[in-house]
Amino acid sequence: MILWLTDQQAQTIIRHLQEERHQEGCGLLIGSEDGQVIEVIPAKNVAQHPQRHYEIAHHTLVETITSAQKHGLELLGFYHSHPNGDPIPSSTDVAQANYPDAAYLIVGFAGDAPKLAAWRIRRHEVERLQLHVGDSMPVTQDTGLSGNHKFAIIVSAIFAFVFMIVLSLSLLPPAPEIP
Ligand SMILES: [Zn+2]
Repeated sequence: MILWLTDQQAQTIIRHLQEERHQEGCGLLIGSEDGQVIEVIPAKNVAQHPQRHYEIAHHTLVETITSAQKHGLELLGFYHSHPNGDPIPSSTDVAQANYPDAAYLIVGFAGDAPKLAAWRIRRHEVERLQLHVGDSMPVTQDTGLSGNHKFAIIVSAIFAFVFMIVLSLSLLPPAPEIP
């Protein structure tokens, strides 16, 4: 999935998070299943320590998902900020990611310009998602094989090679007796 934000949506997110620079800001991304964001919904950070974590109230989640579904849309993901950090999921982000199909967009405010990155977090495994910011449709890129695929292909090639060697050795005729 490519997460696609228009320039204006990206600006809305950055502006919201900048206003809350004293803590982590957060919100929801509603869109179509192909990854196009239709609506950005800023939410309140209800975490106990909002300087270090973010949490969206359960009822906000339920209301947003219900209203999205009414419009034939879905919860595409979440966004939050790292007010002084990079847009890389923290160990808490990974531990608390309960939506395996969601995109986790992070805006990092370390450095001169805010940096955006999108992630998928499945069973504590983090994978970077392609993020497209712009008003034109993203060009679908063939991302090729994933790391796991490549590994599986290499392993099976090694197995096939070893098997072939073993097989050809076992098929060799017995060595002639040296007179
Ligand atoms: Zn975080």
